[in-house]
Amino acid sequence: MSRLARQVDAVNLGQGFPEGLEPREVIEAAMRALSDGPHQYPPMLGLPALRRAVADNARRFLGLEVDWETEVLVTSGATEALADAFFGLLNPGDEVVLIEPAYDSYPVIVRRAGAVPVPVRLRPPDWALPRAELEAAITPRTRAIVVNTPMNPIGKAFDDADLRFLADLMLKHDLVAIADEVYEHLVFDGLSHKSLFALPEVRDRVVRIGSAGKTFSLTGWKVGYITAGAKLMAPIARAHQFVTFTTPPALQAAVAFGLGLPDSYYLGLRSTLEVRRDHLVGGLRRAGFAASDVAATYFALADVSSLDPAGDDAEFCRRLTLEAGVTAVPISAFYGEREVKSHIRFCFAKPPATLDAALERLGRWRERQAPRAT
Ligand code: PMP
Repeated sequence: MSRLARQVDAVNLGQGFPEGLEPREVIEAAMRALSDGPHQYPPMLGLPALRRAVADNARRFLGLEVDWETEVLVTSGATEALADAFFGLLNPGDEVVLIEPAYDSYPVIVRRAGAVPVPVRLRPPDWALPRAELEAAITPRTRAIVVNTPMNPIGKAFDDADLRFLADLMLKHDLVAIADEVYEHLVFDGLSHKSLFALPEVRDRVVRIGSAGKTFSLTGWKVGYITAGAKLMAPIARAHQFVTFTTPPALQAAVAFGLGLPDSYYLGLRSTLEVRRDHLVGGLRRAGFAASDVAATYFALADVSSLDPAGDDAEFCRRLTLEAGVTAVPISAFYGEREVKSHIRFCFAKPPATLDAALERLGRWRERQAPRAT
């Protein structure tokens, strides 16, 4: 979709990367670290300063107590963290429950680890956790469940009751959870992020994953971190040793600096993104798109079933790119069998002028459609 967007010069709200939010002081910290060094392999688990900062940040925002020396591992992005967790914890034949819509790297790496992804689907309009289906998906071979909250692409944050249910499921069936929490700091409307890791009964069963790419709007840096009890961490750290071994030290130092920024940075990030969310969601609605409310993440979802009689979101996104000059991502890309094809995802983490340009194009396109739609 991004290639097509480039070919026809469309406004690309498809790929989920932020623009215009990079904190200058974090970039300057990286420049200083790059100039001063060191430049050689940092410790395998990550720079002590960053591991401490990850633990401190979790205490400050989530009230978690984490031993930075034994319970934190720095990775080259959340993508590597996911791979390390899957390679470290799964054995061939193990089953892993994936809650769809699911981030695209999960099933691919689970399969590469010799394990079997078992999808359980959230469905519109409420995207509620299907508790009976989750129970039914568990077999004696189930080893893990992947819990992405806040969730890409639907912007949902699991609530206390959802997390309680998942924790009970883990205890009942002896499961671990890979908790992909890369959007932990992008939660809106004064709400705060809730982590499975905070539930004491399952603390030793949860692999919590974060990403500086999202927290500092620096997706190209690929700095991620895992928090997990020491026993669970040991095989994950062994996988990390042979996947990348380390992550560039200057970027680690800068992310350590960033995680220590005052609350005002985090509040500022949320409020800027909230303004952009309202800009895009409000604009989409005015242009006649059925956009849902968004609790968290970079993403707004629109139900396009009334605009797309063919019921094929991928084809609809191609059409929108070519006819309207705006690119979105079809939700079916997040379902292994493309079961849900009624929604498309727009990224709102873009400068206001980009959002205006997209909305203007979508509005004009809708006006051209209107005679057909009525
Ligand atoms: N998990 C989810 C849910 C994501 O959306 C992303 C990035 N789009 C990642 C993991 C990967 O993060 P990173 O760039 O730090 O590898």
